[in-house]
Amino acid sequence: MRHRIDTRGEWLIFMKECLECHFIVGDKTRYCPKCDADLRQQSDGSTLTVDVAHSGQTKEEALEQLRSALFNSARAHNQFLRVIVGTGLISEAVYTRLVHLKRSGRIKSFDYEGSNRGSIMVRGR
Ligand SMILES: [Zn+2]
Repeated sequence: MRHRIDTRGEWLIFMKECLECHFIVGDKTRYCPKCDADLRQQSDGSTLTVDVAHSGQTKEEALEQLRSALFNSARAHNQFLRVIVGTGLISEAVYTRLVHLKRSGRIKSFDYEGSNRGSIMVRGR
């Protein structure tokens, strides 16, 4: 992750890096104090992949994993989150959750990855 500048100290978890000027700012900061960039619009074009279906997860565990993956993905400036959903209940539950997140503006868009129904690409920004 690009915002990691040190592996010690828990406070670092709550920091992120401005991609314009590399200034390290607080997690919840909207505009970079150094160069005024809109930090919520920044993305490095990368994709984070999370598998929520193949470790014996329950539906609830899969949704919790989705929630934390979306959070981490946003903080790491990823543009996309690939969610491996498999087939069946978890896939349906994740899809339904994503519909709600899109409606509320938390994510930009999402769709199955090509013809692969076992994988959903989420565009966060
Ligand atoms: Zn900046």
